[in-house]
Amino acid sequence: MQRIKIKELLIADPKNVIGNEYLVKGWVRTRRESKNISFIALNDGSTINHLQIVVDHSKFDEDFLKKITTGSAIGVKGEILESPAPKQPIELHADDIELYGEAPADEYPLQKKGHSLEFLREIAHLRPRTNTFGAIFRIRHHLAYSIHKFFNDKGFYYFHTPIITTSDCEGAGEMFRVTTLDLYNIPLTSEGNIDFSQDFFGKETALTVSGQLEGELGALALGEIYTFGPTFRAENSNTTRHLAEFWMIEPEMAFYDIIDNMNLAEEFIKYLIKYLLEACYEDLGFLNNMYDKELLDRLHHVLDTPFERLTYTEAIEILQNSKQNFEFPIYWGVDLQSEHERFLVEKYFNKPVILTDYPKEIKAFYMKLNDDDKTVKAMDILVPRVGEIIGGSQREDNYDKLFQRIKENHVPMKDVWWYLETRKFGSAPHSGFGLGFERFMLFVTGMGNIRDVIPFPRTPKNIEF
Ligand code: ATP
Ligand code: MN
Repeated sequence: MQRIKIKELLIADPKNVIGNEYLVKGWVRTRRESKNISFIALNDGSTINHLQIVVDHSKFDEDFLKKITTGSAIGVKGEILESPAPKQPIELHADDIELYGEAPADEYPLQKKGHSLEFLREIAHLRPRTNTFGAIFRIRHHLAYSIHKFFNDKGFYYFHTPIITTSDCEGAGEMFRVTTLDLYNIPLTSEGNIDFSQDFFGKETALTVSGQLEGELGALALGEIYTFGPTFRAENSNTTRHLAEFWMIEPEMAFYDIIDNMNLAEEFIKYLIKYLLEACYEDLGFLNNMYDKELLDRLHHVLDTPFERLTYTEAIEILQNSKQNFEFPIYWGVDLQSEHERFLVEKYFNKPVILTDYPKEIKAFYMKLNDDDKTVKAMDILVPRVGEIIGGSQREDNYDKLFQRIKENHVPMKDVWWYLETRKFGSAPHSGFGLGFERFMLFVTGMGNIRDVIPFPRTPKNIEF
């Protein structure tokens, strides 16, 4: 008999499945016994909902049934009947049970519900089996899929940028090195420097912090591209919003100015929310009930509200006039802290905010200079509870100006000569942005810690396996 997924059974019209025989396979979430009957809640990962299995003890060997405990993996064949329980329309009456794997009750750590998220982080190998992480990782899948769908439907190309790179567009010191040199016996040059010519690539290399610079090369040929890949930052920021290994989506578009860029980003965010509200309504409903009672309202609100757009300079004025007691002082030129961002988004505007035209000193060298010579065409998108989820800009497309900015920022020419060259040959106005995948996951799941929206989080001094 062919196995059927539990989700298919539960979404079917009960009339069409009642009275039929099915085979289901999954993991036992709970087993409740009354006199001669057991009720097993079976979950196979296809949905947050469990299928109730009714086991008549007289049909099975007693010692065999003892092995079917929380966490064990089983296959069950039987007839679907209408359920007398009010919460579920159907249940499966077991005729035949196969035990694939036991989960000894004295050792299996997920015996009861309600473990803390901190505890579950320590058992990253088992936490996908909880309702919470099942929901989160299903949402993660649907989010990734909807990102590809959004861009594909718009004619963007998925452009693969390298993971091992030689350039560092964010500034040195935050990158993970990649090397095959013997750390116990590092070859040195006659001047006493590390001799990278003996390394695997013959050059100093590191894991990428962003695919943007290479993404621009794609956009200046294919028109509209996006990247979607792992990104690595060795920054020692032990916050609830930073990972050392995270995923980033970076669209890059030729012939887009900063307004086009903002429009695309806003449309993108709304598209993803709308998609998830439909595709994941059960999982989102679960998270809404268990963790964040305002989650669904917030998502609907963001979907229905035009984002507030204002300049950095206007934001600084609002913050200065706010009479709030910020920990970090506010003045023109300061890099905004998350307390400032959250005040603007959650208290002042009560909706997502797009901030533009930041001082050039606090932004990257590749952002297009405004006519004031002081600010750049940057745009950051801030959302409630998370703060910055998107950082983007129109790119400097003028050769001389870009050259100047590279110098001012002391970016080594050996790292960016190829990038600069695109402004020599067929340069075109273009724009792009980066969306942190896990930041967006925080926003759509309502979870409070970025470690809980990626299967295997990597943060300073923390890597489970
Ligand atoms: P932040 O100021 O929050 O550290 P950033 O200015 O370093 O962010 P960008 O370099 O603009 O961020 O990266 C683009 C996007 O990638 C950010 O808007 C954010 O969503 C995400 N991001 C950046 N750093 C991290 C990180 N360490 N972990 C997870 N996501 C990140
Ligand atoms: Mn950062």
